[in-house]
Amino acid sequence: MNITVIGTGYVGLVSGICYAELGHHVVCVDKDLSKVEILRNGGIPIYEPGLQELSAKNTAAGRLSFTGDLRQAVGQADIVIIAVGTPSLPNGEANLSYIDQAAVEIAQAMNGYKIIAVKSTVPVGTNERVANLIRSWTSERFDSISLPEFLREGSAVQDTLHPDRIVIGADSQEAADTMAELHKPLTDQIVVTDIRSAEMLKYASNAFLATKISFINEIANICEKVGADVTRVAEGMGYDKRIGHAFLKAGIGYGGSCFPKDTRALIQIAGNVDYEFKLLRAVVEVNQDQRMSVIRKLETIFDGELSGKTIAVWGLAFKPNTDDVRESPAVEIIQYLVRSGARVKAYDPIAMQNFKTMHGDNGVMWCDDALEAATGADALCLLTEWEEFVRVDLGQLQSLLRKPILIDGRNVFKEEDLADTAFIYFSIGRPRLN
Ligand code: NAD
Repeated sequence: MNITVIGTGYVGLVSGICYAELGHHVVCVDKDLSKVEILRNGGIPIYEPGLQELSAKNTAAGRLSFTGDLRQAVGQADIVIIAVGTPSLPNGEANLSYIDQAAVEIAQAMNGYKIIAVKSTVPVGTNERVANLIRSWTSERFDSISLPEFLREGSAVQDTLHPDRIVIGADSQEAADTMAELHKPLTDQIVVTDIRSAEMLKYASNAFLATKISFINEIANICEKVGADVTRVAEGMGYDKRIGHAFLKAGIGYGGSCFPKDTRALIQIAGNVDYEFKLLRAVVEVNQDQRMSVIRKLETIFDGELSGKTIAVWGLAFKPNTDDVRESPAVEIIQYLVRSGARVKAYDPIAMQNFKTMHGDNGVMWCDDALEAATGADALCLLTEWEEFVRVDLGQLQSLLRKPILIDGRNVFKEEDLADTAFIYFSIGRPRLN
């Protein structure tokens, strides 16, 4: 099939490259020409393990190309997939301006029947909105498909090639069959629904995962007060098949470009039909507060006085194996520390440049490696569980810190790791281990 993907972000680029890997002819379009330039030169504008190799392989095979010319790319497509961003508006609602713009541009390029699929996460009714927009510009025939995406940054290639399920929202059986055919090599688990249910399904999934995280973080906070260990509690809970182990890791809360914006958007979607989603409001509130648990611990240690203290921060990305810092807990934690007069020394193996571009220098001292950040610090806060932090030589680390205070926002160290050290160690929802 000839597939055109609009938007070469985390979703569009990975999907496009993976469709090419399945043997289809794929054109990836972006209006950001600097991204197109990088891609054409064999580079990848985001950090995503395995993507570069797959891109090079499929470009060399002549199945994959990149362009800024949407009109031409749409003209030669059987299937057009919209994968542009849907960031939050100030009131929490999804900003559909990129979707609308893409729809109009597609409409203007239509030259015959096509399937137009929306892969971006969009509120219920958006596929209808896209279809109406396109119809207002062209009389060419097309079918709308809702094709929500469930990949995770950091393992996006693996997730795309081996998805748990594919969801296809359609009102045309023929178009649904074509999309099912396209995804059949990836999984047998293809769920075909009406368009509105597919749109809702994506938000419901993310809201549920966010709820699991906030739930275990609340349990962690209670564990701290009653002297229980949340990691043992979660482990025991997780063996129950009705609960499962995934997303029961206590920490400093969720971040990234999806859960925060999608939970806010679902609250708004409900609000627009006069339904107050009380549970999800609490999930968001708990998550916001959880970020500050690192700060609360630091303030307890330093008797409320962070001014003049040197605090090392390990990890800026919202999770390991990605360069994405959108709504990362590190943003607010660092901003709070700087506002409090602390001197922040920060390091992240991949996300440092993105952080500086999005949030400015913030008066932070950027370090070239983890140990440089720790050197001379009064305390170290681990905010992202990158492998190199987990594997650090704790003895060496202890000797570099001015005070051996370690706040582990991701519960990566075990009691035995700390046994021969003098660390004053705080984690989330566990008793003092050292
Ligand atoms: P992104 O911001 O990384 O990328 C979007 C890209 O679209 C940008 O490169 C932008 O330049 C391009 N673009 C915007 N308008 C365009 C136009 N008219 N023509 C051509 N290009 C255009 O976004 P993302 O993280 O890939 O997310 C895309 C969508 O997928 C969002 O709705 C998001 O919620 C959803 N989603 C994201 C993830 C994730 O992990 N990032 C997972 C599942 C779903």
